[in-house]
Amino acid sequence: MKYASVIVDVPTMQTDRTFDYKIPEKWQGMILQGMRVIVPFGQRKLQGFVIEVKEESSFKKLKSIEGLQDLTPSVTPELLQLGSWLTETTLCFNISALQAMLPAAMKAKYDKMITLISEEKRKELEPTLKKYFEKQAEIPWSTFEDDDLLKQIQKEIQKGSLEVVYRVSQKTKQKKKRVVQLAQIQTDRNSPLDLLPSQAKKQKEMAQFAVEHIGSKEMPASDFLSLTNGSESSLKGLIQKGIITEKWVEIYRDPYEGRHFKKSLPLPLTTEQQQSISPILESVENKLHKVFLMYGVTGSGKTEVYLQSIEAVLNKGKEAIVLVPEISLTPQMVNRFKSRFGSMVAVLHSGLSIGEKYDEWRKIQRKEVKLVVGARSAIFAPFENLGMIIIDEEHETSYKQEETPRYHARDVAIKRGDYHNCPVVLGSATPTLESFARAQKGVYTLLTLKERVNNRAMPAVEIIDMREELRNGNRSMFSETLLEALQSRIEKKEQTVLFLNKRGYSSFVMCRDCGYVIQCPHCDISLTYHRFGQQLKCHYCGHEEIMPKVCPECQSEHIRYFGTGTQKVEEELAKVLPEASVIRMDVDTTSKKGSHERLLTKFGEGGADILLGTQMIAKGLDFPKVTLVGVLSADTMLHLPDFRAAEKTFQLLTQVSGRAGRHELPGEVIIQSYTPEHYSIELTKEHHYDEFFRQELAVRKLHEYPPYYYICLLTISHPDVLKVAIVTENISTFLKSNLSQQSIILGPVTSPIPKIKDRYRYQCMIKYKKEKNLHGTLKNILEHYQKDVHQNSLQITIDMNPYVML
Ligand code: ADP
Ligand code: ZN
Ligand code: ZN
Repeated sequence: MKYASVIVDVPTMQTDRTFDYKIPEKWQGMILQGMRVIVPFGQRKLQGFVIEVKEESSFKKLKSIEGLQDLTPSVTPELLQLGSWLTETTLCFNISALQAMLPAAMKAKYDKMITLISEEKRKELEPTLKKYFEKQAEIPWSTFEDDDLLKQIQKEIQKGSLEVVYRVSQKTKQKKKRVVQLAQIQTDRNSPLDLLPSQAKKQKEMAQFAVEHIGSKEMPASDFLSLTNGSESSLKGLIQKGIITEKWVEIYRDPYEGRHFKKSLPLPLTTEQQQSISPILESVENKLHKVFLMYGVTGSGKTEVYLQSIEAVLNKGKEAIVLVPEISLTPQMVNRFKSRFGSMVAVLHSGLSIGEKYDEWRKIQRKEVKLVVGARSAIFAPFENLGMIIIDEEHETSYKQEETPRYHARDVAIKRGDYHNCPVVLGSATPTLESFARAQKGVYTLLTLKERVNNRAMPAVEIIDMREELRNGNRSMFSETLLEALQSRIEKKEQTVLFLNKRGYSSFVMCRDCGYVIQCPHCDISLTYHRFGQQLKCHYCGHEEIMPKVCPECQSEHIRYFGTGTQKVEEELAKVLPEASVIRMDVDTTSKKGSHERLLTKFGEGGADILLGTQMIAKGLDFPKVTLVGVLSADTMLHLPDFRAAEKTFQLLTQVSGRAGRHELPGEVIIQSYTPEHYSIELTKEHHYDEFFRQELAVRKLHEYPPYYYICLLTISHPDVLKVAIVTENISTFLKSNLSQQSIILGPVTSPIPKIKDRYRYQCMIKYKKEKNLHGTLKNILEHYQKDVHQNSLQITIDMNPYVML
């Protein structure tokens, strides 16, 4: 193959296509589809992806590829196709789609190394390469300028002896560990000490230590030196004399290192589980792509069904992807997969460092694992023999990426499932309206689990009218019922989860005298109070300032923070229940790595009476001693400018309620609300998803929202408010004249947050059923404004399936 079509690393409209390059003769046969290469582009040298290699090109004067970034493809042929599909459906640049599929380490700064896969492989290397790797296991790529050498290295990679590794600069050190061990001494010598001259006292001492304490085992070199108080040069001496050998052992940066997972065995399934799993297994057996919606109440044993379905897939020698929301990617959840499948599992979540994520990704690429459990982007795991994709809590909005490419993991899953002829399982106790409607229409296969395992009762839910409390003179944030319930748990030594719906709440700062609210100078949003450091922060742009002592407007000293942040609840709790021990979990207490897990472990071990937190405690937690769940204010989310507000409220309340009474002790849920009669709150009482679905569907129909209409949101922003207004107006007009009569175009209007980072924001919404011209029309708009985008910092974002309306 003499030519390569390459997509270069420049996300602009003009470069959003392939460019042809000549493959220099020396690299013909070596450069493969999906590899990254270095190409000349204008004055620059850029990285690019080889989309195709071919015998001919219709272009005449072509430049040549100048460098190799990979020796094995980074992107599989399937993922290349998927990239084009993402580009088409989400209206992003092809390069953005490709990069979204790769771990950040491959984008970040890196040192490229050629590495010996294991010590035994050293012997198997070709002689020319062997001499390079005699003393080291890792050599910078740049050492092998010579193309013949590179060609040999490529062969070794195919044999599995060498690999290319990117060392993320600051992480390099953790990756490899130098260990020492006692060299095998020839039998005619009694002791290695004989080899040492008598004046080498320190070396003798160290050798003695090695004989007694290390032997044929391995010990980290650093430990050896510190335990013997030895120096690097003494160690060198011992190595030269053949008494001690050293080597570098590869250690994956394994975030779960040192943890032991007790092996768990498949449980005998309940009748409902059995009925759910058999159609899935059938689809695995017959290699049929089907989408299943597993609608099962919390605690109905969905996870056990996932585990056993996966087992069937692995038994067939295939691979599986399990997506769970970031927030519920808790150690508890990960443990369930690790204990069933052990080292066959890779885990991908945002808590991992760039290097750790890259290591997990490499395990997938090298087929060392068969199963990946991860958040949204794990959907791009480069498996080539997928047998199943599972999306747990399919209603979670975090499956939608809110930056380019604005994809929904569910759509990607279904696309990949189709390619691999394998089932996709969507699981939830509160499916999205869209998915449930599809299941009712027969597009998805509905699997229902109505009962909790062992017929444990669903927790009793009580809804408290907070207006009533106020009328009775209770001005605290705890109703009498909740307070009594809290007290009784403390007496009985049972535990409580207290949930604060923080979204839309935030503790803003207001002057009690003049009503002035402190806002971010760059965004139209009030600043949030953080007690730590007495700071005010903007959650959109990160602006920070110190909490003022007097009101900037009227100089009054009565300036206070309002709203019910978790810190404030904690303070209140300390007043009304001084004997209660509380663990608070929010962004502030969990920002340090590992703190999330530490707090949960502490609570699980009975380290506190109350776990107080935000969204991050709503999911996936399972503690036997939790018998009470309290929701401080159910309706804060209801009033957001979002057509899914009711759905999100219902889902969240149901999820939170599900944390109670999952084991022997029965559970109780107390929900406080100012609008208890709203169906999204009232219906949680009876765990009445079906009825909620019916009512919400009627509302969606009335207001022409999904699942009756698709929606597309355009957001236009610019530092000049007039410019934004005019452009948005023009875009709306253009849409109206180019789309069919059926489609509804709303706007231009200012966005719910009219200014972010000093940019004014307008939006315009399209509701449509079938709109053949939509993509074409939107592309026309983007092309038309291309220049403004480039020179004028106009920004147009198009979201084909928005979940955040702000
Ligand atoms: P879900 O994922 O639907 O919320 P889980 O899978 O977490 O439910 O199951 C709830 C509890 O029931 C877990 O503790 C689980 O170990 C247990 N469980 C699940 N299936 C069975 C079964 N077939 N027999 C006994 N216990 C089960
Ligand atoms: Zn701001
Ligand atoms: Zn004031």
